[in-house]
Amino acid sequence: MITPDERLFTGEAALITARGLKKAYGRAEALRGASLDLRAGEILAVTGASGSGKSTLLHCLAGIVRPDEGVVAYGSEHLDHSPEERLSELRRSDFGVVFQFGQLIPELTALDNVALPLLLAGTRRGPAHQKAREWLERFGVRGQAGLRPGEMSGGQSQCVALARALVTEPKAVFADEPTGALDSLAGEQVMTALVHTAREIGTAVLLITHDAQIAAYADREVWLRDGVVHSAPADVLAREAARREV
Ligand code: ADP
Ligand code: MG
Repeated sequence: MITPDERLFTGEAALITARGLKKAYGRAEALRGASLDLRAGEILAVTGASGSGKSTLLHCLAGIVRPDEGVVAYGSEHLDHSPEERLSELRRSDFGVVFQFGQLIPELTALDNVALPLLLAGTRRGPAHQKAREWLERFGVRGQAGLRPGEMSGGQSQCVALARALVTEPKAVFADEPTGALDSLAGEQVMTALVHTAREIGTAVLLITHDAQIAAYADREVWLRDGVVHSAPADVLAREAARREV
């Protein structure tokens, strides 16, 4: 089933288009026909209960997981059929990802963690470190450059993780509950830094959250329920349907 709701779609201007995504893990149907557009430069919040398929949707859009059915298009490129090497290349150059627990490399300093995507993309060590320092500065963690993840607070390591996700100036950042492990003050600081920077460089953000306060940072919000994307929460949709019947 493809959700027939125009508010989810934008047509040609979409950066990433997902249509009719299905994904099952054994008997658990994580996605049951999820459709969505991520527009260039927008901050889009995807909200939903635990187990509603949010992470699976993010993984499909970012080319980390292949859907069983449906289409994920990045421009004219169909990611659901792209070879694995192309998907890793996209994840290095065009996409950035941030998870709930930053998943920084524990043996590397903050500086080396942020420089890594640049080094992998072929930037030389000197310029990579220079740029990594600038990005730590942007996220307010320049002072932590020499520390390893275990030596920083949760908020600081999320800022380093964001710097690492954005340092290549990707077209899209996929953030899966990026503030889920933080207290509300640290969460707000991380969100402010993310939104400010994404707007500055024109990066689209797919922001997964189950926290309404975090979703409020987005330009647009959609709701995932039982593996399908909706343009409003269930009670609002029910009210709209009732009004149409009058
Ligand atoms: P959310 O992020 O909204 O909590 P998920 O996308 O993680 O939802 O999960 C949706 C459903 O798919 C859940 O029932 C979950 O248990 C199942 N699921 C997700 N990933 C896996 C996996 N790798 N293996 C088995 N089941 C999974
Ligand atoms: Mg999740």
